[in-house]
Formats: sequence, C-alpha cells, structure tokens
Amino acid sequence: MNDWKNVWILAEVNHGKLSATALELLHAGRQLADALGEKLCAVMLGYQVEKFIPELFEYGADTVYVCDDAHLQNYVDDVYAKTLAAMVREYKPNKFLLPATNMGRSLSAKTAVFVGTGLTADATDVKINAEDGQLHATRPTFGGNLMATITCKNTRPEMCSLRPMAYEKAARVSGRRGEVVNFPFQADKYTSLAKFVEFIKNDGDGLDLSEAEVIVAGGRGLGKADGFTLLKKLAQRLGGAVAASRAPVDSGWIDYRYQIGLTGRTVKPKVYIACGISGQIQHMAGMSGADVIVAINKDPQAPIMKVANYAVEGDLYEVIPAMLEALH
Ligand SMILES: Cc1cc2nc3c(=O)[nH]c(=O)nc-3n(C[C@H](O)[C@H](O)[C@H](O)COP(=O)(O)OP(=O)(O)OC[C@H]3O[C@@H](n4cnc5c(N)ncnc54)[C@H](O)[C@@H]3O)c2cc1C
Repeated sequence: MNDWKNVWILAEVNHGKLSATALELLHAGRQLADALGEKLCAVMLGYQVEKFIPELFEYGADTVYVCDDAHLQNYVDDVYAKTLAAMVREYKPNKFLLPATNMGRSLSAKTAVFVGTGLTADATDVKINAEDGQLHATRPTFGGNLMATITCKNTRPEMCSLRPMAYEKAARVSGRRGEVVNFPFQADKYTSLAKFVEFIKNDGDGLDLSEAEVIVAGGRGLGKADGFTLLKKLAQRLGGAVAASRAPVDSGWIDYRYQIGLTGRTVKPKVYIACGISGQIQHMAGMSGADVIVAINKDPQAPIMKVANYAVEGDLYEVIPAMLEALH
C-alpha cells in the first residue's frame, strides 16, 4: 500500500475545451494532498490538449500527466479507460478524483474495474481521515434522506467521482509552474469494440446550465409542456437558462438533461427562479447552493417558499407575464 502516493484529479477535456470541473477537482484535491503531505497531480487525456497544462499548474497542480494523441480526439470509453488504467498502474496514485459528469461517471467506473479497485460514485464531499489517511467520500443515499460516507480499505487508488459544482473552483496563482510527464499512447493496447462515428451537438436551445448565472426552472405546476415556452422567454430576458424538476421530465414535457436534483444535475447559479416547484428534498439537493432563490408558487406552505429569499405567492401564469412586462 505504501507504494501508492499522491492525489490525482482527472482534468476532463470536452471538444477542445477544458471542463470547469477540472478546476473544482483541483480545489478538492488540494485539500486532500495538503492533509496527506503529498503532491496534487492532474491527469489529462485528449488530442492537442497540452495548451491547458499552464492553466492546471496555475490552479494548483504540482504535476500534470498527459496523454496527447489523435486516437484520443473523441471520447470512447474503452480507449480512455484502458489508457487511464495503464497510467494508474504505472504511476500508482494514492487517491483519484474524477468528475461525476457523463464522461467521468463512465470513465471512473471502467477504470476502477480495469485497475481492480473501489469507486465511490457521485460524492458531494471528500476528506482525509486523520487517523489512517484514508479517503472518506460522502454522498446522499436513500433519496437524499441520509448521507453515507464510503471508504475503500484494501485496494489503491481510492477512487471517487465528485459531483460538478460540489466544490468551488480552486484559486488561481498566475505564473505558477510544475512538472509535466508525457505518457505515450499505445494504439495496439488501448483498443475498443466501439467506434466513434459522429458527434451531434444538441440544438443549443439556450445556455449551458453549468454556465448560467440565472436559471428559470419549471415544475409540475406548469401543468403542460408548453409552459416552458413562457419560462424560456423569462430566461432569455434575464440572459439565463431553463431547467426543470423531475415531475415535468417524467411527464415527457422536457428532456432529462434539464433536470435539477438528486438524480439530475447540481447547479449553483446567482439566481434560481423556481416556478411551480414544491421544493422536495430531492430537488433541493441540486439547487440549494444558489446565491438567491426566488419561488413562484400558488401554495404559501410549499417547502420551497420557506427556503426562498423571495417567495412570490401566486399563479405563475400571472406572475411571469407581469415580470416580463416589468423587465420590458
Ligand atoms: C430517489 C428519488 C430521486 C429523485 N430525484 C429528483 C430530482 O433529481 N429532481 C427533482 O426535482 N425531483 C426528484 N425526485 C422527485 C421529488 O421527490 C418530487 O416528486 C419532485 O421534485 C416534485 O416535482 P415538482 O415540485 O415539480 O412537483 P410537485 O411536488 O407536484 O409541486 C408542484 C408545485 O406547483 C405548485 N403549483 C401548481 N400550479 C401552479 C401555478 N399555476 N402557479 C404556481 N405554482 C403552482 C403547487 O403548489 C406545488 O407546490 C426524486 C424522488 C426520488 C424518490
């Protein structure tokens, strides 16, 4: 066990962009590395990704392990997981944090299986246990009613996928530098039965939820799919994005990728406007980190009205047009 040293984070690159989760993981990873007195290392896979290395140093990485190859231009999980597993076997990290994004969830699970170690998926908090130096990864369970702290005692690395936005981005120190380790890609070994065919971008009906400073979310109280047309108008007027609780997703009014909550996405916008959402604990799990919560609800007793900074009692089909009028 003593051969395994240092804290790794996966710096995810998507379609030529460094994911913001890399900077969040550098924040969480720095706390672990400092608690252990070990180095914080970022690992990055992709094609023409070397340009992101200085940024990773400035946000706290001491070492960047990079595998930069044309075979890694598009994400294919077997190819990525085999490459990553080979890097893990070679350099033996002690702890390894990956983002619980679509890519990170798949990649972390496959890599853990290839390496033969344990993974805590979808954690919201990570700590080092002072007594034995083990990773304690905490995640909601039983529908968000309990928090479970999970450990991986007998194998290394201790792996964990961490929810996007569970941590703030690390602080940037301009000009900070570190060590680069290049890892060669081996096309005959890192193979897959699946083949990348085409990337189809979704139609871009608004801002990415993870980047939006204002989110206008709709719930069952919309009553119909078309209710989102009104929410889109308000979101556009405020320069924000539309989201939903699970009820409209289950009803087929809006796609799952807009769902906020325990089984959806976690967001931390400056303003979250919940329209016709009651505020069940599973929904709150994804949005309670918003700076300002505005709730529009017919029922003054709805749980969301108690956590909202501004609770507007009324019919959303009257309140939102009035807001649009006032913003005109
Ligand atoms: C394991 C598990 C995971 C889950 N994960 C998630 C998750 O990720 N995200 C999530 O959101 N939920 C999740 N849920 C479901 C969650 O428990 C709730 O059922 C769901 O959030 C309810 O959605 P809602 O608030 O839109 O609907 P409701 O609870 O039905 O609330 C509708 C609200 O709209 C109000 N309303 C009605 N008409 C109007 C109107 N015209 N104007 C204004 N207000 C009006 C009502 O007063 C009510 O408060 C999960 C549940 C489980 C068990």
